Order: sequence, then C-alpha cells, then structure tokens
Amino acid sequence: MKQVMHSSQLQAALDFSMAAERNPRTMQPSALCTSTEFDRLIECRMDRISIEERSRQMSLVRSKDTKPELFVRKLLFSMKFRYRLHAKDLPGKPDLVFRSQKKAIFVHGCFWHRHAGCSKATTPSSRTEYWLPKFARTLERDQENLEKLHTMGWQALVVWECELKNMDALAARLRAFLND
Ligand SMILES: [Zn+2]
Repeated sequence: MKQVMHSSQLQAALDFSMAAERNPRTMQPSALCTSTEFDRLIECRMDRISIEERSRQMSLVRSKDTKPELFVRKLLFSMKFRYRLHAKDLPGKPDLVFRSQKKAIFVHGCFWHRHAGCSKATTPSSRTEYWLPKFARTLERDQENLEKLHTMGWQALVVWECELKNMDALAARLRAFLND
C-alpha cells in the first residue's frame, strides 16, 4: 500500500506538511503559513517543496481510493447497489461502474476538479502560472471524458466532495441516477 491517499484538503495539507518536514530544504517556516485555512496551508506548503516532490505528493493525493470515494462506496453499498471499481477501459477510469446499466460515477475533489461556485475550489494566490494551466487541463480532461462516455452510450454522474456533507441529499441523487 502506498502512503496516504486522502483527498480532503486538510489531509492534503497534512501530507504536504509531513513531506516538507522530511525535506531539509523546506524546513524554513514561511510567513505565508499564518492562516489556518486549508487552501492557504496547502499553498504555502506547496511553495516550500520542490517541483518533483510536489508532483509526487499530488499524484498520491489524487490517486484512487480517496476518502470521499470510500464514503460514496459505503453509501451505495448500504443502499444495496453493487458496482465495479476503476474501470480502466473507460474514459477517465470512472471510480464506480455499473456495467449492465452503462452508468458510471466519478467522485471529484472540489479543489482539483474546480467545482463551479464551490467554496472549496479556491485558487492559490501565488504561483498562478503553475496552478491555472493545471486547473485548465484537469477541466478539459474531465469534459473530454464525459463526452467520450456519452458517445459510447454511457451515462455519467459526478459526485462532488462537498456533497458528502448532506448524506440524505446525496443518497437521493445517487438513487435517482441509478434507478433512472
Ligand atoms: Zn464542491
């Protein structure tokens, strides 16, 4: 099992923090690190770690089996829906797949996948030359994957990390999608 794979911004911040602690070049405290806001924390941690380390950390944070995905899996299981995981043969490798119905569910982190209008989808104020193209690529890729799935006759649902706060509403949305 590879290290930690959580996607909440808090966990991401902690991961970056731990990585920073291990890296002697990054031991200097940053003046930016005064806010307790998670995104600011991530931002200042990110500024302190090397680009290679940053890529590695991000790939871990963005990996499969993230906490929100586990939550959705448990919820669906409790609702008696049975699914397959991470269909590698489908565009975007959907997190949950219902093959006989040709339905796929993506569980997206609001920050990485830029949930429109969501308070979690903050934009770091520094290193925008790094972040903005990265966000644009993610959005473009997500859109392409949804279009490809649609062309293949699949229906896709995106569950956002922030939706996990209201389990009843999420359960209703999942049920509506899967019973449709
Ligand atoms: Zn959101």
